[in-house]
Amino acid sequence: MPDPLSPNLQHLKASETVAISNEAKRRKAAGEDVLDLGVGEPDFDTPALVAQAGIQAIQKGLTRYPPNVGIADLRKGIAGALSRMSGGRPVDPDQIIVSSGSKQSVFNACFTLFGPRDQVLIPAPAWVSYPQIVHLSRAEPVLVPGDVEWGLKVSARDLDRHSNKSTRGLILCSPCNPTGAVYTLAELRAIAEWAKENKVWIISDEIYRRINFGNGPAPSLLDLPDDLLERVVIIYGASKAYAMTGWRIGAALAPPHLTKAMAALQSHTTTGANHPAQWAAATAFSDERMDAEVDRMVAAFRRRRDYLVERFRRDAPGVEFVEPHGAFYFFFRVDGIREKDPVTGSSFCEQLMRQEGVALVPGGAFSDDRWVRLSYAVSDGELERALDKTIGLIRSLESARAA
Ligand code: PMP
Repeated sequence: MPDPLSPNLQHLKASETVAISNEAKRRKAAGEDVLDLGVGEPDFDTPALVAQAGIQAIQKGLTRYPPNVGIADLRKGIAGALSRMSGGRPVDPDQIIVSSGSKQSVFNACFTLFGPRDQVLIPAPAWVSYPQIVHLSRAEPVLVPGDVEWGLKVSARDLDRHSNKSTRGLILCSPCNPTGAVYTLAELRAIAEWAKENKVWIISDEIYRRINFGNGPAPSLLDLPDDLLERVVIIYGASKAYAMTGWRIGAALAPPHLTKAMAALQSHTTTGANHPAQWAAATAFSDERMDAEVDRMVAAFRRRRDYLVERFRRDAPGVEFVEPHGAFYFFFRVDGIREKDPVTGSSFCEQLMRQEGVALVPGGAFSDDRWVRLSYAVSDGELERALDKTIGLIRSLESARAA
């Protein structure tokens, strides 16, 4: 028996979405025809302009340790991007700290704010890493189930019902991974007012903000007045909108004392984010030509979303789903497919992978295994093939019910 590991890891589970992506890669490498709609990353290449800025940084020798909180050009670039998305509201670059992906930004915020005996509310279904990160901070995650009638979103009333005097935080995600739901500004305001009244910190993960199918970027807490932002951390990053997942650049915008504490924490963990990647990301956030590039990618996601919704409505009318308004995920329900011996997300995904070579993620990874997540950040052709196979399996399960 190996020595027991630290109690720090007592709740730790490896990321299920990463595991599914590894399995799909393994099968592909073994020569199998696998369609991977499990992974949460854009199928586009990093825009050439951005990649060039990274290459130039390396050629110029910008390869030494970066400033701990991020290079000034990038912090300014991110502040500018956040400001532009929120109608020009002032955003102070000194309140921004750059990290190795927004996953680290969420970790820094939770680890700095929460600890033993604190409870942190997480609307569910929720991105896999939130409960794990809260556990790593030795705090307790409290899942707040979203309302099926309302795109699986939560209201201030739902939050209130799950809170008590130990409630210190709330992690919001809009546009949402795994559902694609987007909170309206009025909904965000009601939640922010509740949080202010109850002295609850909000970590608002807005990594998908730019991938919104309504007009302009999705509503943000940054669109609210200052007095509602005293206990708010905004999470943003380069991975999704700029197709830069592998560069590992994320950021948090927080009140000054918290930015300072997160910088101290980061100075003892990663030191700072990859230096040349920061130069590439500075171009992504600052160069005017990037807007058109991002718009082009968002238009492709919107087109695929429309196609998916139409196919499900037409070919699998009995299957419930959340209509996505942003990000690039489609969340559909499988437990109603068969009444006797109900289908679960895990059994559906296992069968789909084994029989059809399509990788999707069981809803259990997001804390509700009645559902399945499909990522449509794949080419139109792959999406069509994967949908034929997915809907084919739904139909065969339905006809088994009828038989
Ligand atoms: N937040 C959400 C909701 C995500 O879906 C992801 C990536 N899957 C991240 C944060 C982390 O992204 P990154 O670390 O690449 O910035």
